[in-house]
Amino acid sequence: MTGSDLRGGAPLHVAVFEGDGIGPEVMAPALSLLRKAAGPRALDFEALPAGAGHYAAHGVSLPPEALETARGADAILLSAMGLPDVRYPDGTEIAPQIELRMALDLYAGVRPVTVRPGQPCPLRDERAAGIDFVLIRESTEGLFHSHGRADVTETEARETLLITRATSERLFDFAFDLAARRRAQDRGPGRVTCVDKANVFAAFAFFRRIFHERAACHPGLAADAAYVDAMALRMVREPWSLDVLVTENMFGDILSDLGAGLMGGLGFAPSADIGDDHAVFQPCHGTAPDIMGTGAANPAAMILSGALMLDWLGRRHDAPALAEAGERLRLAVGAAIGSGEARTRDAGGTASTEEFARAVEDRLG
Ligand code: ATP
Repeated sequence: MTGSDLRGGAPLHVAVFEGDGIGPEVMAPALSLLRKAAGPRALDFEALPAGAGHYAAHGVSLPPEALETARGADAILLSAMGLPDVRYPDGTEIAPQIELRMALDLYAGVRPVTVRPGQPCPLRDERAAGIDFVLIRESTEGLFHSHGRADVTETEARETLLITRATSERLFDFAFDLAARRRAQDRGPGRVTCVDKANVFAAFAFFRRIFHERAACHPGLAADAAYVDAMALRMVREPWSLDVLVTENMFGDILSDLGAGLMGGLGFAPSADIGDDHAVFQPCHGTAPDIMGTGAANPAAMILSGALMLDWLGRRHDAPALAEAGERLRLAVGAAIGSGEARTRDAGGTASTEEFARAVEDRLG
């Protein structure tokens, strides 16, 4: 079957930002596996410039034309951007991925936390094999709202947290819809937990109040709430008990790295930033300059992010075969990790980026 058979139409246009550091190293095998999973004519990839390297060479981190091309694409794949010694004049790192989230209104940051056999989960409890939950991080407001517009004087610095009703309602509905889909797939009981600090901050009491209002509109699903500090403890003590978590931007930023830690490291942690009209699929990790060029980068997170993209495109374009291709790719990554035959260095092995990708390809059938 060809790729266009899989989707039944013209190829979908995917904007690709391969970024900096290990970004291009993990993007190349991911694109090749996506072509193989979805078929050679299902997706049309277009490489676009952005990132720290581009900023150093041209003085702009996200060219307006690249942003507009990405805006017009059916989906956006992004690896990682930023380098420690390339910075804006105010000292902050180059992060076009944050600009993209704001510009394209990608309010739902989806961070699946799944421990597959063979992943180096640090928990020594047999129930750790059952860890499979999703953290949804609001990605356009919260404490990142004033990103790039901080109020800094010689004596103080202020950055403002913003929670809006409109974004929170969409975010919570997204979380309940995801919990319903997971339950239909037998991956969770259909429960959403709001993670906040409603005992201290009025903004989070507001966030939680809207959560319960939206929960009432999804009567078939369970809803509860937890404080972020207690949730950090629970994510370590009994992460197998979690289903869908939904939280503010900064809390989500921190907890998603804790989730990546449970999975055995950033190299295994995929993500998607989804809005009503656009979506960016990107691994949780950064550009890892310490291993750049060594062939040690684990491409699993990038490949799994690509699988999330196929799933999203399949649902959005009513093309179940594309979603199935995403599922096959996800399972092939799991089987490659489980086989232990191509363990990358972050998982205690010696396999290179390429060797791991080949092990996935062999299992894709
Ligand atoms: P950022 O701030 O951009 O998120 P960071 O500096 O916090 O980046 P990373 O660049 O993700 O973090 O690197 C953190 C550590 O994880 C590094 O030691 C890096 O080598 C390791 N790491 C990150 N991604 C991978 C990967 N795909 N494979 C192997 N190791 C990785």
